[in-house]
Amino acid sequence: MVETRQVSPNHYVFSERVNPRFCFVMGLAAGRERAALVDAGMGIDRSLPRAVAAVTDRPVTLLVTHCDSDHIGGASQFRDVYLSPEEREEDIAVACNPGLRLRFLAAHGFDPEMVKRAEASIVREPLTVYGQVRDGDRFDLGGRELLAISLPGHSMGSMVYLDPEARIAFAGDAITKSPLVAFGRCPPLSVYLEALLRFRDIAGDGVRLYCGHSVTALPEDTLPDLIQGCREILSGKCGGDREEVLPLGFFDLKDVPVWLHRHGGVTIRYNRERLSPSCPAGNQR
Ligand SMILES: [Zn+2]
Repeated sequence: MVETRQVSPNHYVFSERVNPRFCFVMGLAAGRERAALVDAGMGIDRSLPRAVAAVTDRPVTLLVTHCDSDHIGGASQFRDVYLSPEEREEDIAVACNPGLRLRFLAAHGFDPEMVKRAEASIVREPLTVYGQVRDGDRFDLGGRELLAISLPGHSMGSMVYLDPEARIAFAGDAITKSPLVAFGRCPPLSVYLEALLRFRDIAGDGVRLYCGHSVTALPEDTLPDLIQGCREILSGKCGGDREEVLPLGFFDLKDVPVWLHRHGGVTIRYNRERLSPSCPAGNQR
């Protein structure tokens, strides 16, 4: 079920595919002593540890970018797991709930036969034991390290993991072509913009970014487009944006209204009522 793709001599991406257009992607950096796996996917079946063992025989540390079910669902298959303390504890149990994950798959066009099979194979154990990772933490893998960079936006505790030497980063849902910064748990959009600028300052230009939903690296313009797009929204150049509803009924949650702002190759999905801390009602436009 899990597919493996080598993207550098020491880096891999693994994917669980839901349908031809939608997959869950994890990254791996391999050092001399250890390997770091970034995210654990939905845990539709139990093949991820095998896929990881096929590319490295070193002990594996799992770094979860944020606690949505398609990133943390398979996490309990690993022993050495880290999460940001900014992620909400109550979200972890919901994200790991196997019944809700099966409904998520069905709602996203997973073949009904496959949903049936997933009922038997899905990772069911909740993640209960994990360590805390904070901004600036470095994971020494032996001749290679991963740096944790906090990037609040999609969630408060979202982390991006950068290999500074290889110039490769695994970004989860914090940096994508269509970031979702519209949930109640998300900070105002101005905080996301600050976090993107800070990431660019730390990582520098030309980092290859792998996000949680594509096995190929993001186009080079993604980060500059996101920064420019956020600036446009915050300066009121968003009159042509349209509103959409994000259905979350399969998670027993209320549907979330999102505004769509396009710039270059990205679409920022944001909450017009939460642009900045000083201006929560969004009357900046
Ligand atoms: Zn997410």
